[in-house]
Amino acid sequence: MIMYKAEMKGIPVITTTEAYNSRTYHICNCGGERETQGMFLCPHRGQYNAELNCVINIGKKVERRLGYMPFHGAEVGQPLAVPSGAEAPSVRAG
Ligand SMILES: [Zn+2]
Repeated sequence: MIMYKAEMKGIPVITTTEAYNSRTYHICNCGGERETQGMFLCPHRGQYNAELNCVINIGKKVERRLGYMPFHGAEVGQPLAVPSGAEAPSVRAG
């Protein structure tokens, strides 16, 4: 569904595996752990929203693959990133 809509808008679609995106912390790249289903625990910086951490890791993977972060052409309803040191939004995936 999203591939079809993206192609209609001329937005490139990149697929990646969902595995291993939730094992490292997107800020310091350490191997933290998923304390609970929704909470990632970095031994250096503490707790962070696990789903948001995972999505940011996927974004970084795409950026490495393309050589840039494709912001133009996509519409989002939520911020793409949380500034370093800021608290993660209290969002839990259902
Ligand atoms: Zn860390």
